[in-house]
Amino acid sequence: MIVVMSHLADQRDIDSVINKLKNFGFQVHLSQGVERTIIGAVGDRTQLLDVGIEAMPGVEKLVPIMRPYKLASRVFKEEDTVVQLGNGVAVGGGNLTVMAGPCAVESKEQLFQVAKEAKEAGAAVLRGGAYKPRTSPYSFQGLEEEGLKLLAEARELTGMPVVTEVMDVNTLPLVCEYADVLQIGARNMQNFFLLREVAKTDKPVLLKRSPAGTIEEWLMAAEYILAGGNPKVILCERGIKTFETFTRNTLDLTAVPVVKYLSHLPVVVDPSHAIGNWRFVQDMSRAAVAAGADGLLIEVHPNPAEALCDGPQSLTPDNFTALMQELKRIAPAMGKSIN
Ligand code: PEP
Ligand code: MN
Repeated sequence: MIVVMSHLADQRDIDSVINKLKNFGFQVHLSQGVERTIIGAVGDRTQLLDVGIEAMPGVEKLVPIMRPYKLASRVFKEEDTVVQLGNGVAVGGGNLTVMAGPCAVESKEQLFQVAKEAKEAGAAVLRGGAYKPRTSPYSFQGLEEEGLKLLAEARELTGMPVVTEVMDVNTLPLVCEYADVLQIGARNMQNFFLLREVAKTDKPVLLKRSPAGTIEEWLMAAEYILAGGNPKVILCERGIKTFETFTRNTLDLTAVPVVKYLSHLPVVVDPSHAIGNWRFVQDMSRAAVAAGADGLLIEVHPNPAEALCDGPQSLTPDNFTALMQELKRIAPAMGKSIN
């Protein structure tokens, strides 16, 4: 249920409503918009009608939220959420934020080369995995803390904020020491313990969609983070499982406008993991921007043929530069500027 305050309501009216809700055992979340304040009340809805909120000064109306996610819903917060990542980079609003880098951090030389070239080409955020969720236990699993340290050094070198995956609760404190943005991988979208823990941090979270996750399940996963006290959630569509086998997954671009209709959270598209083949990454990046995406997550490797992880879908720095040049022309047509 949400309590919509009148535009004439003052701070005292808002505080009285919040206090009353808390006294009746509701969890309260505030959304202070430009026009008016909205108070989200999570708890037993039948009680809300009994406690007389509707008659309180400054209250315009009570609106039930019929969807299972509440804080992630556009009904709760009408304006687009803009998530600040650090070093002046923001996701959402009128920005098109390009995050680029290798699938896995492999060495200092590899990471620094990609970081410098990605930055020169116009990327805003450096990506790179230090802990890798691999299908085979025999595949390269990541450099772990050494990888995190290299990412932090690459941030010093380029000024780009760093996004990296956190795979479990045990390594979360360590990853938080180095990362600017915590990536929740597709396989962990419904790891509710992990979601609850990242909710307790003050880091922005890039929440990837599970390959078998519906849009509602994805938004419910975001709800865990929001309800746990962390409002800085960025959603990332990275392809879902379908009957098609030519591509690694199927990029569900319908998710972009649908999620933007249902939710105020920014949406980034990862064509690299969706398609699994570098040849189509540029085409689908273009399509993602046209569909309204707030950003892109692109894998780039100096030598894809030698990559320890996801080489076939990685762009060379030259191909990434070509993509950025094209995006610089396309972004303004979508009312976006590349940050
Ligand atoms: C990745 O970003 O390298 C990754 C493992 O992605 P996903 O969780 O989407 O498979
Ligand atoms: Mn990858």
